[in-house]
Amino acid sequence: MANNERTTCLVVGGGPAGLVLGLLMARAGVETTVLEKHGDFLRDFRGDTVHASTLTLLDELGLGERFAALPQRRMESVQVQLDQGFAKLGDMRRLPGAHQHIALVPQWDFLDLIADAAASEPTFTLLRNAEVVDLLHDGGRVAGVRYRDRTDGTEHRVRASLTVACDGRGSRVREAAGLVPRAFGVPMDVWWFRLPRHADDPEGGVGRVSAGHFMVMIDRGDYWQCAYLIGKGTDQQMRAEGLPGFRDRIARLVPWVADRVTDLESFDDVKLLNVELNRLRKWYADGLLLIGDAAHAMSPVGGVGINLAVADAVATARILAPALRSGGIVGIDRLRKVQLRRWWPTALIQGFQKLAHGVIFRVRSATPATDAHPAAEQGKVGMLDEVDHTTAGALPLPLRLATRFPVLQGIPARLVGIGPLPEHAPAWARRPSAPATRESTPQGS
Ligand SMILES: Cc1cc2nc3c(=O)[nH]c(=O)nc-3n(C[C@H](O)[C@H](O)[C@H](O)COP(=O)(O)OP(=O)(O)OC[C@H]3O[C@@H](n4cnc5c(N)ncnc54)[C@H](O)[C@@H]3O)c2cc1C
Repeated sequence: MANNERTTCLVVGGGPAGLVLGLLMARAGVETTVLEKHGDFLRDFRGDTVHASTLTLLDELGLGERFAALPQRRMESVQVQLDQGFAKLGDMRRLPGAHQHIALVPQWDFLDLIADAAASEPTFTLLRNAEVVDLLHDGGRVAGVRYRDRTDGTEHRVRASLTVACDGRGSRVREAAGLVPRAFGVPMDVWWFRLPRHADDPEGGVGRVSAGHFMVMIDRGDYWQCAYLIGKGTDQQMRAEGLPGFRDRIARLVPWVADRVTDLESFDDVKLLNVELNRLRKWYADGLLLIGDAAHAMSPVGGVGINLAVADAVATARILAPALRSGGIVGIDRLRKVQLRRWWPTALIQGFQKLAHGVIFRVRSATPATDAHPAAEQGKVGMLDEVDHTTAGALPLPLRLATRFPVLQGIPARLVGIGPLPEHAPAWARRPSAPATRESTPQGS
C-alpha cells in the first residue's frame, strides 16, 4: 500500500459533474483532487449534448471561445419524424440569452476542455486510472477513499475534508456508503449503433416515432449515432430474431437511411445500454456528498443528464467552497443545502422523463402499421406544415398545438435547452474569455 495522500476536496469520478466541480473548487483556491478510473475520456456511451445554459456557464468561466472552436453540430430545433413527415416540437431560436441552440459535441472533447482548464489551476490534481474501491472512515465520518491504480494494481489512500461522489449511476461510493436510491420503473433499454451520414441528410438531432418503434438519431458529422428503444429485458429475444429483420425494420422506419443499413454487419455493432431512472432520498452523509447521476440517474429522454450534472456541480461549489477554502470541516447542514437547492429541478425533470416514458411505451406497444405511411414510404421527409395537412389531425395533441401555434415551441425548448433553475458561475470562478490556441484546444475526438 502506497503512502497516504491528503487533499481538501476529493472528487470521485471525472465525468461532467466531477470535472466541473473540480475546476470550480480549484478556482476557489481549494486543494482539489479528482480520481477517474479510466485513462482517458474516450468512452462512446455518453451523451453529446451541451445545452444553452451550460454554454452560458462556459462563457462565464471564460471557456466559451475555446468551446466554440471544438468541432460540433448545432441543434436549433427539437423535431420528430412521424409517418406523416417532420414535426417541430421545440424551437431553440426562441430561447432568451446568448445561445439559441444545443451544441452536439462528443463528450470526450467537452471533458478534455474542462480538464485542461482545471489543470492550469495550481490547486487542482486529476489522477487517471484511479479506481475508488472503498471509503475511509474517521469514527462515523467519511474521511476519504481507498483507490486502486489500474496501471500497476497498487492501492492508495486519500484522506480529505470532504468527499464528493460524482461516479455516475453505478456509483461505488454510494454502495460503500450503504445508500440505496429509489428506482422509478423504466419500460425500455437502448440499442446504440452508428449509421453513415450523408451531406444531404437533415441536420442536428432527429427523433423518429412510428407505431411500435422509437429511435433518436444524433448528428455526429459523418455518422449518425442512433439510439433505438427496445422493451426492457427484450434484448436477447430481439437479437434471436436476426440482423436482417432489424435492418429491415430500420429501413422501413427511416427510409432515407435504407441505403446504408447493411453497414450494420453483425449484432456486435449494436450495443445494449441499460436505461435507469432513480434518486437518492438523502444525497449526503457526514463528510460525504453525492451529486449528478450518483445521486439521481437520468434517463436519456430529453438529453438533459449532462446539463443537470453540471448544474449540481456549480451549486455544490458555490455553497461549499467558501467553507472549504477557510480550512473548515463542512457540516451536514451545508451539505443538506446543496440537496435542497438541486432536489426540485431534478425531481421536476425526472417527473417529465417518467411521463415521456409512458408516452414512448404506448407508442412502442402500438401495433406497427403493416404498410408505412405513403409519405414515409416515399422518403418525403419535409416539415409537416409543408407535407401533409390532411393527416396532421391524427397527431398527438401537444404536437398538433406546437405545429399550429409555433410560439408554443418555446416551452419545450426552454425546458430542454435551459431547464429549471440554471446555475451561474460564482464571481470567484469567472474569467475573461480566452481564445482557443493550438495548445489549448483539446485533442481526442
Ligand atoms: C444511453 C444513454 C444516453 C444518454 N444520452 C444523453 C445525452 O445525449 N445528453 C445528456 O445530457 N445526457 C444523456 N444521458 C445521461 C447522462 O449520460 C448522465 O446523466 C450524465 O453523464 C451524468 O454525469 P455524471 O458526471 O453524474 O456521471 P457520469 O457521466 O456517469 O461520469 C461518472 C464518471 O465516474 C467515473 N467512475 C465511475 N466509477 C468510478 C470509480 N469507482 N472510481 C473512479 N471513477 C469512477 C466514470 O468513469 C465516469 O467518468 C444518457 C444516458 C444514457 C443511459
